[in-house]
Amino acid sequence: MNFVAEALNLSPSAAKRLEERNILRRALISHNFFSDVLDAFKLDKKFGEFEEGTVIAKTTDGFEVVRGYPKIRRALTFYPTIKRHFRDKVVIEEKMNGYNTRIVLFGKNIYAITRRGFFCPYTTERAREIVNDDFFKDYPELMLCCEAVGSESPFVVKDIYGKGIDFYVFDIREKKTNKPMPIRFKEYVSEEYGFKIVPILEICTKEAAHVKCIEIVKELGEKGREGIVLKDPEMEIPPIKYTSSQSNAADLNYAFRFFNDYGKDFMLSRIVREGFQSFEFNENDEEMDERCKRLGVAILKPMIESIKEVSKGNKVVENHRLRFKDREVLDLFKIQLKKMGVEAEFSEPYFEDGYHILEFKRIMVSTTDKISHILKGNLW
Ligand code: ATP
Ligand code: MG
Repeated sequence: MNFVAEALNLSPSAAKRLEERNILRRALISHNFFSDVLDAFKLDKKFGEFEEGTVIAKTTDGFEVVRGYPKIRRALTFYPTIKRHFRDKVVIEEKMNGYNTRIVLFGKNIYAITRRGFFCPYTTERAREIVNDDFFKDYPELMLCCEAVGSESPFVVKDIYGKGIDFYVFDIREKKTNKPMPIRFKEYVSEEYGFKIVPILEICTKEAAHVKCIEIVKELGEKGREGIVLKDPEMEIPPIKYTSSQSNAADLNYAFRFFNDYGKDFMLSRIVREGFQSFEFNENDEEMDERCKRLGVAILKPMIESIKEVSKGNKVVENHRLRFKDREVLDLFKIQLKKMGVEAEFSEPYFEDGYHILEFKRIMVSTTDKISHILKGNLW
């Protein structure tokens, strides 16, 4: 563990504090699938300038620091927020709804790291198959910050982005410093190396952006898409995010299905967003009624379904299906999920079209237990 202090350039006292506060955790399971990494830790909390999810690794090449992906602040209104926040031009990108993945090169292979800093065996195997690693031969010091989206997701299952899983680059950053590259570099790299990048929907002046944003968010919402991220073309100003009403409703639907596993903040913030959006979109009665209905359905319907499930003696679960090339990676992934604190019931893997297929049910333990407790006649 001594390499951590050295890699982060910490004074002995700062290193000691890191240990005392217990914010370092092992980031991977040792296995020859991770052969370039001798040992790795992740930060479970922000520490000094280092974001939560920062990874410190001892590799066959030396030390590596991969900074955590920074928080993106949320706009609740477009006007006057955009005008105040940005400098000149604003890039409007689609916000895709999957899970955050940093892809880096260590030694001879690429590695996929989750938002919280775990080396994910599943994501790493998929990335090695899908992502062109020539990029890293030319830019070994950079990381690709991607949204991993699709139906075969261990974390965020969505059909709208297609079957399987795919990677869409949204930022390119220096892994050691977190310095983001300009948007045009991302576009160039995507052409040059054939990456998919998140759609760039519009580039406009900060004065005109709020009108455009309302239009775009309405359209995206109707297509079941999550929302937008607004960025400075040079990436010198922190980006801000904004989500569609349909996406807020989808989140609430999810959160209330698993109401005891999700924080109250998660729910409240999504409801508050709807209030500001309705106000700014200047809705007529019909539109407002539609929004109210959408919100009400999202909150109540899934919860009622969960209660029904448990009343029948079942657990509240979420279904997943993933594919693996290598059976050992599949087993590694199962161990990894446990380390992440996910409770799951796995079915026996089967072989199909060259892949080992793993199906599992993620069990929402807290919600299941709570409902069961109440149905037995206990008080809240
Ligand atoms: P935060 O980033 O604020 O901590 P969070 O973890 O709750 O928030 P989200 O609300 O999903 O996450 O919003 C930020 C995330 O959106 C990013 O971490 C990234 O994974 C994802 N994302 C999708 N599309 C983009 C995009 N075009 N630009 C930046 N991030 C994007
Ligand atoms: Mg997200």
